[in-house]
Amino acid sequence: MTSTMRTLTGIGVSPGSAIGPVAVVRPPQPLPATEPCSADPQQDLTRVADSLSVVADDLDAKAAKLEGDAAEMVAAAAMIARDPGLIEAVEQNLDGHTGPAHALQAAVAGYAEQFEALGGYFAERVADLRDVGMRAEAVLLGRPVPGVPELTEPSIVVAEDLAPAETAMLSPDLVLGIITSGGGRTSHTAILAAQRGLPAAVQVAGALEIPDGTTVALDGESGAVVLDPDETVKTKLRARSERLAQLNELTSPGSTSDGHPVALLANIGDVNDARAAALTAAEGVGLFRTEFVFLDAQNAPGVAEQADLYEAVLAPFGTRPVTVRTLDAGADKPLAFADLGPEPNPALGRRGYRLMEERPDLLRDQLAALAEAQRRTGASVKVMAPMIATADQARAFAETAHEAGLPVAGIMIEVPSAALRSRHLLAACDFASIGTNDLSQYTMAADRMVGELADLLDPFQPAVIDLVAAACEGGRINERPVGVCGESAGDPLMALVLTGLGVSSLSMSPKRMPLVRFALGLHELATCRAMAEAARACADAAEARAGVADLAHPDLRELLGV
Ligand code: PEP
Ligand code: MG
Repeated sequence: MTSTMRTLTGIGVSPGSAIGPVAVVRPPQPLPATEPCSADPQQDLTRVADSLSVVADDLDAKAAKLEGDAAEMVAAAAMIARDPGLIEAVEQNLDGHTGPAHALQAAVAGYAEQFEALGGYFAERVADLRDVGMRAEAVLLGRPVPGVPELTEPSIVVAEDLAPAETAMLSPDLVLGIITSGGGRTSHTAILAAQRGLPAAVQVAGALEIPDGTTVALDGESGAVVLDPDETVKTKLRARSERLAQLNELTSPGSTSDGHPVALLANIGDVNDARAAALTAAEGVGLFRTEFVFLDAQNAPGVAEQADLYEAVLAPFGTRPVTVRTLDAGADKPLAFADLGPEPNPALGRRGYRLMEERPDLLRDQLAALAEAQRRTGASVKVMAPMIATADQARAFAETAHEAGLPVAGIMIEVPSAALRSRHLLAACDFASIGTNDLSQYTMAADRMVGELADLLDPFQPAVIDLVAAACEGGRINERPVGVCGESAGDPLMALVLTGLGVSSLSMSPKRMPLVRFALGLHELATCRAMAEAARACADAAEARAGVADLAHPDLRELLGV
């Protein structure tokens, strides 16, 4: 019997596997440019009102099947669809110059502006308002409804890509995994998926053509997506998941087989992540991405609000060190309250620490809140700034943090200049953590958001490995610790290379930690050094990865399927 299974292949970015039906996130389509003007505004107004009430009924039905916050969120969106003010705004736009779909779009845009101006609760409803508008336009035009579907059964979400807020909104109880046709290894979809322990694959060509409801088997390690998998595929995938799950029982501190310590730390994005990570064998936190907490905030959070938040993050870790990164806003992570306006090249613009130079009030408040949380908890806090490029910036940040009462202040090395001159930067602060996601982007001049450039962003690119080596050299000269907190720290083979290059800690999604711990424990430091040398001797990333895999222990190779 011939198999009807089809396999799509992408890049695995969050390990684990999932088997289930897909729910496809349809991108909104532009309105037809040639929609005729309304000949009968009253009749068209009724059509728009009917479309909005179809959307409202649909949302109410979905809310009835959900519980708790998720149910409330969906019911609130249904109320927006029933808002008489919205219909009045449509009526005003049906003025003889537009058709009904354009009148609806204009009404939603105007209403969104009003919501934004009101701020607070209303401003937070703008995304819902736009979502309601998109849905009603689709109903009006007889098109499939776009946007993140309200899931009613455990599903694997398929999308072109997901904005950070969209990924965050996905109900964790109902999402089994994520597949995107776009995105990249270090896009925030990948990071948030790994953070939530959701298996994920990006750059899966043909993913958007998978019909809704098709059962697929997703391998978040290899990036393979099997459509209509048979029992053999399902059994194999489950068996590998089980072997990986067994590694969770290992809880020893990170170390090579000959006892060279490499601290295994957690990357976290909010209080829930902190609580979950604290329950694992993570030796602390290597990266708390504070901006993730404020992605939806319209106004800058105050000192008191932040101090409570940081206290809740620090407390679960007791005496284990927690590295907190100051707001890394801008480019791929815009924050409404820290927006300096459009720039031609946001990734090269006033983002990260550069933005804090423009808005010292934000930095001051954040450091004050962190110092207060440290006082309340007695926690071992380290603070670091993103996107540091010069020794002057490193010194200025460390001084500001020390003055705020935070004795351990470091920098992220994400810009090639910082890696190359790390001996000067590390003379000016207390530690460094290499952000390989951005370091790859800036070394290879390849936008991390452009999934098609994923090959250039492979962490095994020898040029990036050379820069990591340069960064470590600066640490050695100054006797300062240098860790890695980019996604590459969670890649077991790369973790061995990084260890060989001399990093003192590896920070990753806690879900990735057991495999990295296992990989470290199988190799001596000398082997890790030989791997680093082998990788640096290669001409390209694929050759470097294969060369390192050749030197790896057979048990690891078997588990990774390399
Ligand atoms: C990095 O750039 O590697 C990093 C850890 O920071 P982020 O991914 O949040 O930009
Ligand atoms: Mg970064």
